[in-house]
Amino acid sequence: LENSSNMAQRVTASDGNKKTSRVRVAVRLRPYLDKEDEKGEGPCVRGLDKQNLEIVNWRNATETVKYHFDAFHGAKTTQQEVFVLSVKPILSHILNGQNASVFAYGPTGAGKTHTMLGSAEKPGVIPRAVREVFNLVNAKHEDEGWDYSISMSYLEIYNEKVLDLLSPNSQDLPIRQDKDRNIFIPGLTSMTISSFSDFDTHFVPASLNRTTASTKLNQRSSRSHAILLIKVVRTSRVLPHRQQTGKLYLVDLAGSEDNRRTGNQGIRLKESGAINLSLFTLSKVVDSLNSGTSVRVPYRDSKLTRLLQDSLGGSAHSVMITNIAPEYKYYFDTFSALNFAAKSKMIVNKPFTRETMAVPVLPVKRAREEHEAGGSGS
Ligand code: ADP
Ligand code: MG
Repeated sequence: LENSSNMAQRVTASDGNKKTSRVRVAVRLRPYLDKEDEKGEGPCVRGLDKQNLEIVNWRNATETVKYHFDAFHGAKTTQQEVFVLSVKPILSHILNGQNASVFAYGPTGAGKTHTMLGSAEKPGVIPRAVREVFNLVNAKHEDEGWDYSISMSYLEIYNEKVLDLLSPNSQDLPIRQDKDRNIFIPGLTSMTISSFSDFDTHFVPASLNRTTASTKLNQRSSRSHAILLIKVVRTSRVLPHRQQTGKLYLVDLAGSEDNRRTGNQGIRLKESGAINLSLFTLSKVVDSLNSGTSVRVPYRDSKLTRLLQDSLGGSAHSVMITNIAPEYKYYFDTFSALNFAAKSKMIVNKPFTRETMAVPVLPVKRAREEHEAGGSGS
């Protein structure tokens, strides 16, 4: 054992970050909602095809900025399509002792929880992924010689504190690394589950708890990272009963909105700082994994990235679904989410929606123009 772990270290050290895998980046645009657009300005973002979208350029309304991603899921994309295209392909790996992670990133109100959790009528990534893991395990043939066992943990990172959502009065838990470089949380509840309904029995009350707490505590759900861990352990039926563990993290991240602009103070400001630290570090980690350069991956700089260290980059399979909203009130948060997520961007010289809008303008600019118009009655 000691040998193999030394070897793993040597491989990592000599190959630098060349061995680390990219984080696949998908963007999902939620449908336009009238109630989010009091001024009736229409959408400021639109999809172009399966990998590209464009957004009005606030510096120059006759231009749009065009972004390219691994995948773009337009407003009409169903929950099933998001799952099949962006999540399903990585799930088989966790049966082979590899790790995987799926994140929903984006500003509050853009559809992270809809994407991850969904509703009874439109179940999201979490219920679909858990069902699929059971399907994959149940489809395994006896003669492959492995026994599988599946367990779940559910936690929250709030204010850089790690809290067990399956244990109501949990205190801040530590994050540790074992000699094989696996990350674990001593004391975190782990429940063996043998079916999807078993999962639901534990998960539903825990996520309801979280929602109830959130309304009391300043929309805590938008300020904390909710992390579901599904662990698949397989044990060889023959001696020496070799064991492999695969982990799947399903993460509904805190809102990526810039809290400095919303004027938070006191405890809220402290929270914002902590949220910014985790999300800021996540963005640095994703950037350094995806840039292909040999810069240090700063996993240790926040609780979130430290916890995900063995399941994000490296030999793990990771997908980040960036959720965005099309209304102008989200414009700057959308812009910063896209800049975080984009593989590339390009300014395109053409008006956004020539057919339906005379000149697409930003709320700020429009307000100024209305002021300048000075009640001329136009
Ligand atoms: P977040 O978790 O990012 O704050 P939510 O998932 O709560 O955002 O979404 C905000 C609102 O938009 C909710 O009412 C949700 O039902 C709705 N919504 C989000 N995405 C979609 C979608 N793809 N289709 C329909 N409604 C959506
Ligand atoms: Mg949410």
